[in-house]
Amino acid sequence: MTEFKFDTIRKLTALLATDSRIVAALKGEGDLAECTRYLQSVGDTLRLHRAFLLDTKGICVASNDANLANNLLGVNLSDREYFIRAMRGESAAQFVVGRVSTIPGFHFSAPVKGPDGYLGVVVLKLDTDTLAQQLYLPTGFVTDSAGVVVVSDTPENMLRVVPGGSAALLDPLQCRLRYQRERLDSVYLSEVPMDRHKAWLLRPDGKPHLCKSTSIGKEGLSVYGFESLAPLLSETAESFMVHLFTAFVFLIMGFAVMIGTAVNLLRDRYLRGALEKLNDTLRVQAQHDSLTGLLNRRMFDEMAEAWFAQTLRLGVPFSLVLFDIDHFKRLNDAFGHQAGDNVLREIAACVQNVLSRQGDRVFRIGGEEFAVLASAANETQLRLVMELIRKTVEERRLQHPDSAGAVVTVSLGGLLVRGCCDMTFTEAFRKSDEALYNAKARGRNCWVLSDDCCQPAAPAKSRPA
Ligand code: GH3
Ligand code: MG
Ligand code: MG
Repeated sequence: MTEFKFDTIRKLTALLATDSRIVAALKGEGDLAECTRYLQSVGDTLRLHRAFLLDTKGICVASNDANLANNLLGVNLSDREYFIRAMRGESAAQFVVGRVSTIPGFHFSAPVKGPDGYLGVVVLKLDTDTLAQQLYLPTGFVTDSAGVVVVSDTPENMLRVVPGGSAALLDPLQCRLRYQRERLDSVYLSEVPMDRHKAWLLRPDGKPHLCKSTSIGKEGLSVYGFESLAPLLSETAESFMVHLFTAFVFLIMGFAVMIGTAVNLLRDRYLRGALEKLNDTLRVQAQHDSLTGLLNRRMFDEMAEAWFAQTLRLGVPFSLVLFDIDHFKRLNDAFGHQAGDNVLREIAACVQNVLSRQGDRVFRIGGEEFAVLASAANETQLRLVMELIRKTVEERRLQHPDSAGAVVTVSLGGLLVRGCCDMTFTEAFRKSDEALYNAKARGRNCWVLSDDCCQPAAPAKSRPA
């Protein structure tokens, strides 16, 4: 923007130098009043502080401020660099503080040529206040080629020299000539160390700013723009808080996940334990009879068939006893179903008790029917087992309404199968049942041992019917 403006004024100055009114005025031939009006219109149009003509001696002969009391007419400006250079045929620009007006500004000059050499110089002055208004420079300043602040957002920085600016080396005379003062103070610019940034304080008690500087134009101008770091820092602080909060949330979530996992593991363990217990209970329930607690019919079928298969395979003797309560219906009828249940429980308990010691398995396989998978290795042992059961029940002396001794008794049928036998389990069971039937037929409270396949023998009976 500044460059564009400067370039425009530079070109316009060169153009004015060829204007017939200006040439005529410097020749002393033209209408000076008309030339003055022309300079005024140029100044007003371009919002310039000054538009004036210097003769070959550097004396102002025409100026846009001719109507003002404190005008430039007659002032000698031959010591100005812009005049000296223009008289050498150059178009020049120079920042100086006005000698009459004390207003600082950029002076653009161009030589006005006549047929026999230079007639003088045309000068346009852009004051820094007007330039500052036209520049968008919220915080910052512009320095001339010597490092002197010529446009600034803060008035106190005006005509101060930036650190390292060559104007600081000017002697008082030169300084006065150019800037209307004998010495130039330094701009306050103090570097402060910031993480990853080079920051500057613009005043001792101020906040840190980032600085961006750039050179523009042929005039050696430098623009310094400053941006406060405060919003950036507060943004950083804010984002730090956001990060802190996020980390905190993640930490809490992490804890929640860990606690949740631990709770789940404990709950799983508890549930698995409870489930195993439940499974055990269900397994026990599925395998046992609920009234007597003995192994049930299903378990009898499974175990008996397995034991029987083992007998056939390995030759281990298989001994089976079936027994049934005698005239149980009468007991039920006489004493009631509940009493019948109690009898069932009592018989189960005492038989189980007397047999479990020798490893025999007792089952309830029907209403008042029981089975024993005995560990008897021969008929003699099996007879002993059957007699033991019979005697145990009889001696338990459970009351019966009309049996021989008025006590509950059982009848039993037994079978011993050896590996040599070519028999199925169903046949073995049927033979045992037949033996039990025979025991009933022979008067009850007795046992019958069935003959086996290997040794056909007359059925034996525990006691005479
Ligand atoms: P037997 O000497 O010929 O075996 O005569 P029984 O009366 O014992 O035989 P029967 O088959 O005629 O009757 C069996 C009875 O057992 C009939 C039934 O009411 C009874 N019973 C079967 N299951 C239960 C039970 O769980 N509880 C009770 N209290 N009685 C039962
Ligand atoms: Mg029966
Ligand atoms: Mg019966």
